[in-house]
Amino acid sequence: MASSREPVTNEIIMAALDRVADPERGKSIVALGMISGLILRDGHVGFSIEVEPERGPRLEPLRREAERVVGQLPGVLSVTVVLTAQKPPTPAAAQAHAHPHPHSAPGQPAKLAPDVKAIIAVASGKGGVGKSTTAVNLALALKALGHSVGLLDADVYGPSMPRMMGLSGKPESDGKKLQPMVNFGIKCMSMGFLVPEDSPMIWRGPMVAGAIEQMLRDVNWGELDIMVVDMPPGTGDAQLTLAQRVPLAGAVIVSTPQDIALLDARKGLGMFRKVEVPVLGIIENMSYFECPNCGHRTNIFSHGGAKDEAARLGVDFLGEIPLTTQIRETSDGGQPIVVSDPGSPHAKAYLSIAAKVWDKIGGGKVGRAAPRIVVT
Ligand code: ADP
Repeated sequence: MASSREPVTNEIIMAALDRVADPERGKSIVALGMISGLILRDGHVGFSIEVEPERGPRLEPLRREAERVVGQLPGVLSVTVVLTAQKPPTPAAAQAHAHPHPHSAPGQPAKLAPDVKAIIAVASGKGGVGKSTTAVNLALALKALGHSVGLLDADVYGPSMPRMMGLSGKPESDGKKLQPMVNFGIKCMSMGFLVPEDSPMIWRGPMVAGAIEQMLRDVNWGELDIMVVDMPPGTGDAQLTLAQRVPLAGAVIVSTPQDIALLDARKGLGMFRKVEVPVLGIIENMSYFECPNCGHRTNIFSHGGAKDEAARLGVDFLGEIPLTTQIRETSDGGQPIVVSDPGSPHAKAYLSIAAKVWDKIGGGKVGRAAPRIVVT
């Protein structure tokens, strides 16, 4: 990629993109109005190319060409281009989506990861509550129960799967699809494998959804009983779009006792209900503190809040996980507790949660029928 001190501008980028033609329409992608969400920050460029969903798989060369052309501009340090099969959701579009049933909705539903029987989301109202730690241990527990499992790190803002799953390096490609990275028998994909850690990423809602869609569609996931998606934290537009576009069989909400008190978890619940994704239940993480020396249990926060709140909201309570150094050290060290100490009470807690989740999605058979996305 070229670099110089000349400042690059939106106009220069658009002029360069104007020379890239949609191969099927013979016109420039700028003239066709396909560029959206252009962001330029300190030489880092990001934008989406809006395409009809059915053309998405064919247009990867176009995406690469746009990336190449912009990457050659003086002053451009990095370029992130995603194909997006949908315009950013407007409130009207989001509302329209909330009603039609996935199977009867108009438009061209395209299958994402068609051989995955059920996709579940692990979400939280805000960051830092242990969502990724829970997603990883839940995935490993599902594997330990004998299921074939995939793990998709959709937390593009702070991808932690590579570290937590003890994976590094780049996924291989067969020219068409990327091979997922594998450890502990789990197929894994994360933006963390695709972009260098030091390259700052600029994300906007539609780009997040586009990138995640690509990680579902362009990765050779093969047949899986279940895929666990570690969602971006929070309940903003990006999360909503994602919940709409990934064919979720259900969602699990991770919450700390304080998070419950602050009603962040309630927002997460509301978001999934809005898009008709069944909420499988709430997990209380960092529920109480367990002393590493004597095992003494201290309820630092108001332990049990999640259980009461779940009951009030009519959602199942899936279990509680304590705050322990062992959980932190094992997940941050790439040896999550479910694999590094499977006999421990904490690993058993994850296994019990996994069994409930598996049960709730109908043993992977039911889900929401065939995974589909709906384009509004
Ligand atoms: P999130 O995905 O919600 O941002 P992470 O899973 O990355 O949160 O967790 C944030 C930090 O808290 C990590 O260092 C992780 O190891 C630690 N952590 C998560 N759950 C626990 C727990 N139950 N006990 C101790 N540390 C935990």
